[in-house]
This record gives sequence, C-alpha cells and structure tokens, in this order.
Amino acid sequence: MSIHAINLPRFVIVGSNVLPKVKEVLIRLSVKGDVLLVSGETYTKEPAELVKDSIEELGLTVHTIGVKDASEASVGAVECRIEESGASMVISVGGGKTIDIAKLASNKQNVPFISVPTSAAHDGISSPVASVKTKNGSTSIMAQPPIALLADTDIIVKSPRRYIISGVGDIVAKYTAVRDWGLAHRLRGEYYGEYSASLALMSAELITENIDLVARGLDAGIRVVIEALISCGYAMCIAGSSRPCSGSEHLFAHALDKNCAGKALHGERCGVGTIMMMYLHGGDWKNVKNVLSRVGAPTTAKQLGLKDQQLVDALTIAHTIRPERYTILGEKGITPEAAEDLARITGVID
Ligand SMILES: [Zn+2]
Repeated sequence: MSIHAINLPRFVIVGSNVLPKVKEVLIRLSVKGDVLLVSGETYTKEPAELVKDSIEELGLTVHTIGVKDASEASVGAVECRIEESGASMVISVGGGKTIDIAKLASNKQNVPFISVPTSAAHDGISSPVASVKTKNGSTSIMAQPPIALLADTDIIVKSPRRYIISGVGDIVAKYTAVRDWGLAHRLRGEYYGEYSASLALMSAELITENIDLVARGLDAGIRVVIEALISCGYAMCIAGSSRPCSGSEHLFAHALDKNCAGKALHGERCGVGTIMMMYLHGGDWKNVKNVLSRVGAPTTAKQLGLKDQQLVDALTIAHTIRPERYTILGEKGITPEAAEDLARITGVID
C-alpha cells in the first residue's frame, strides 16, 4: 500500500477577542526567533497592530510587510523579507489574498506560518492550497497548511457582508466537488478518501441546515461559516490535495476569472457554478440555489455582473482550465448549445 502523509494545523482557536492568544500559541510552539507579520494594507491594519503588540510582550522582534495583491511579485517580496529578517515564523493577518501570499512564501522558505483571517470569504484560511494570479488567470498551488489558526469572530463579523456570502458559496461548492471526485475515482481509478470527502460534504450540509442563522447575520451564523471553512481546510489537508473541495464548479469559477477578471468574488462564482454542475450531476440544484438565495448570494449571470454570453463562454472552456482534474465536464467539455441550455434551465441566464 502506498504511503499517505497528512499535515494538519496544530492549534485552531475560534471565538471572540482571540487575537491576544497568539502569545500562548507562540509559547506552545516554542518560537524563540524573530517573527514576520504579513498584513493587508487597509482595514486589516488594526488587528495586525494588536497581534504585533501581543507578540512583542513576549520580547520577540516583529518585522512587518504589507501586501497589495495575490501576485507572484508579492510572494517574492515576502520571501525576500523572510530571508533578510531571518524570521522563524510568519504570521499573516488579513483576507484570503494576504493569507495565500504568506502561505506560499513561508512554504518556499521552509518556515511555518500562522493564519489570522480577518474575513471568511473562502476556505484558503485553513487549507494547504493557495491561489496566486499569473498572466493566465489564477492557479492553485499546493503549499502548506497553517501551523495554527486564530479566527476572531468580532473582527470577521465586521468584514463586508459580501465576504461571508462568498464563504457560503465556497462551502456549498463541496456538494459538486465531492461528486466530481467520486466520478474521477470510479471512471479513472483516482485516489478517493472517504473520510476527507465526508468532511467536505458535511460542511456543505452544515451550512445548508444553518442557513437561516447565517442569513440573519448573527454571530452564531458567522461562526458556522468559519467552522465549515476550517473543516474544508482539514478535508484538503487529509486528502493531500484540493480534490474534496474543488471540482467542476471551481473550474467554471476559474474560467470566469480568466475571461472576466475582477467580476465577483471567488465564492460567489463558485456558488453559481455549483447550481449548474449540480444539475449536470442530476442532484438537487434547486436546493443549492435556495441556500444561496437565502443569504442574498448571486444566483444569476446578471447578479455576478456578467453578460449571459460571458457566462456561457466560461462554461464551454471550464474543462480546459485544469485538464488533469477529471469532473462531470469530461475531457471534451460542454458544447455552446448545451451550455446555454444548462444556464437557462437553471435560471442562471434568462
Ligand atoms: Zn474555493
């Protein structure tokens, strides 16, 4: 039997006012050297300052760097900063982009990193996978999971509501991602992990059951989203790839990113993709649509800020985005006529 190695976060702390706990985490991880704090440049500054102050109370030196975008240049800049500061730990305080940059740069420099998300817009907050923008759109790269994660609900609840909605879209995506994985296993003999598949699916079911709590914007609802996203991260750590969390709906979302960059958030695109891919799988796509509608997530091309044709075009090229990832779209993809029918039947276009 082949060896399957699993790398998981060691400490996960979710709750109100948890940022000062970074001190305890560093003590328990026996961190003695300098720390590099990677933060976003806007509203994440305040929590980043709080984290910095807490670490300095331990007598550790904190170096800082702000990142603007999830580009290869930003990864390079953070790598340089790790090298010149000699930091033995990277702590990332910010949204998905900031965390992805820190994840990639720390992995390349062989230094662990701690994730301190200020929003819950996608499952990258806890996963070993990072997405980075290249000339040809964004690509997902296997890096490393955070060694610890501190999710402060007081901060995340204040992030723009659209981010939480995006998080919901990225979670319902697991309904089709897991189906695609099963298909690849049965048709291609691809490795399939029952446990990680169940964990990803459970997150989607959890969010479906609690969608009214999320819709009301209550702390308890935000917590469900955060915990479901963390669970998805664990599913990827256990599977050793993004397979349980990223299928045909993600290929569609990436195709949109390639053709119409900047339109809608990752999870918003994945949510709409899930409605359509669920139809192709013969599953309950109306339920997916209903869950998304309940939180005010986009369910149509128009709500994504797209022309109908742009959405249909993305459907037809989705299978080319990552050819090695077998999904319901198969090797040949979907014809323009079938794509239009699919979008129309599911009400994504008029
Ligand atoms: Zn995603």
